[in-house]
Amino acid sequence: METIKCLILGSGPAGYTAAIYAGRAGLTPIIYEGLQPGGQLTTTTEIENFPGYPNGVDANVMMLELRQQAERFGAEIRSHIAVKADLSQAPYTITFDDQSQVQCHTLIIATGATAKYLGLPDEEKYRGLGVSACATCDGFFYRNKVVAVVGGGDTACEEATYLAGLAKKVYMIVRKPFLRASQAMQDRVMQNEKIEVLFETNTLGLFGQDGVEGAHVVYRKGLADEKEYDIAIDGFFLAIGHQPNSQLFEPWVETDEIGYIKTTGQTPCTRVPGVFAAGDVADPLYRQAITAAGSGCKAAIEAERYLKAHSL
Ligand code: NDP
Repeated sequence: METIKCLILGSGPAGYTAAIYAGRAGLTPIIYEGLQPGGQLTTTTEIENFPGYPNGVDANVMMLELRQQAERFGAEIRSHIAVKADLSQAPYTITFDDQSQVQCHTLIIATGATAKYLGLPDEEKYRGLGVSACATCDGFFYRNKVVAVVGGGDTACEEATYLAGLAKKVYMIVRKPFLRASQAMQDRVMQNEKIEVLFETNTLGLFGQDGVEGAHVVYRKGLADEKEYDIAIDGFFLAIGHQPNSQLFEPWVETDEIGYIKTTGQTPCTRVPGVFAAGDVADPLYRQAITAAGSGCKAAIEAERYLKAHSL
């Protein structure tokens, strides 16, 4: 079986940055792109908050450039998806969806997180055309517009508050008669004049010609006073949670109750020697491209140190 010095799973900013650093360190890293080549950013349009692009950059262009930069330093990029991991002993064995297997001395898990969606066909139809799961990424495009945020947790409250600083009006669509968020976040939302919370409300669908122009919603579905109506909105933001893509590694690495991989202190080290976690799979707090890139860098530096310490 092929044995790799440094295997990187995932091709978002964390994976590619790890590959750039590992490549420059002479580790000849191999990246498996995974389910979503280029990562979550490829679902957004323009990126304006990544340092170094004063005029913004198309998300897909940036990911392509990161890929080219990784390749320039010798990273090999493969397109399969990991389906099984055996981290019980080094070198670690990873199995892919074509049943191929590799062994690796160091593993950088940069498999990201997947934003949860409601599962409506219209979310697909308007993806990038008014539907987003990241207010920090896309909120700027809704200056003085009307948006809706779905969810009643801390993320939803945080995103609604952030968007209220930009948009003309923000609806929060909350399925329960109360917010689940911490009291401080609830207070912030309830005191914000630009935010209107639609409690006990679910989304049925979206409508619009070339992008989102509104949402069909239902109040108290299935009850005597059920009411269906439409709200006019320009943007529809999902904030109903993220699922870190850590399931394969859960038997070995430590995760929190949601599934985010726990690392030691400020490092990307997991409890398995030589296995590091970078980017959103280990980050319940920030989830930004730039923070993911930073942790990818740290992971590659740790991998290099590990290999050196073990004379590999
Ligand atoms: P949560 O799981 O806390 O909240 C998800 C919200 O989305 C809930 O209101 C939930 O409704 C709603 N929801 C879930 N599925 C659906 C659905 N299908 N249709 C409609 N609504 C739905 O996720 P968060 O991302 O908000 O937070 C995750 C964790 O991170 C939490 O522990 C949170 O406290 C923490 N966090 C902390 C922050 C901070 O401290 N600054 C910032 C952001 C997150 P329901 O209540 O009915 O289940």
